[in-house]
Amino acid sequence: MSLAENYQHIKNQLPKHVTLVAVSKNHPIEKIQEIYNLGQRIFGENKVQEMTEKQPNLPDDIQWHLIGHLQTNKVKYIAPFVALIQSVDSEKLLSEIDKQAAKNNRIIKVLLQVKIAEEDTKTGLEVSEAKELFLKYLQDEFPNVEIVGLMGMASFVDDKAQVAREFSFLKRLFDQLSIQKKLEILSMGMSDDFPLAIENGANSVRVGSAIFGQRIY
Ligand SMILES: *Cc1c(COP(=O)(O)O)cnc(C)c1O
Repeated sequence: MSLAENYQHIKNQLPKHVTLVAVSKNHPIEKIQEIYNLGQRIFGENKVQEMTEKQPNLPDDIQWHLIGHLQTNKVKYIAPFVALIQSVDSEKLLSEIDKQAAKNNRIIKVLLQVKIAEEDTKTGLEVSEAKELFLKYLQDEFPNVEIVGLMGMASFVDDKAQVAREFSFLKRLFDQLSIQKKLEILSMGMSDDFPLAIENGANSVRVGSAIFGQRIY
């Protein structure tokens, strides 16, 4: 299938309330431009260097989402333009984003990345850490960031029941925290598991290879 067919195929599977983040990591700007021309405006990258190289060479109205682990010393490179940092996994990182947002006279929107995979390999905040950090945020410790939601990655396993359990776990936390401050974005689901993520409450999905094809490293 062509890029356009892949893209339409994914779009057709998404209910209206679900936002698509097209994950363009390891793919060239020509392909991103092609998807842009079909109407897509939100693109996700997992590396700072790749994002900062692509951003000036593509249309200004693209909303860039950082979805990979972010080192504190690299926040400054994306702070001027990033639309959403989905992968906040420590207080130190949130502090640095707050500082760089202030320097750039803007509020930077972020998601807290929560560890939901029952297997132990994925990064993210423990639930207790996420709650603590959210509390500090509510007490105005990070005035230049806005926490707008949560992000999680399920285990890479075939056991659908397990994956569903992990997604619904994050949905419950999302609902819990939303009582204190209305959260907007629950980012769960990738090429292989986004329908299950949506069934379990995701309203934003991060799809790469199902649109762009396999990544070439
Ligand atoms: C690469 C990546 C995706 C997209 O993965 P696909 O399987 O290609 O859809 C989604 N989320 C994160 C955090 C990623 O790093």
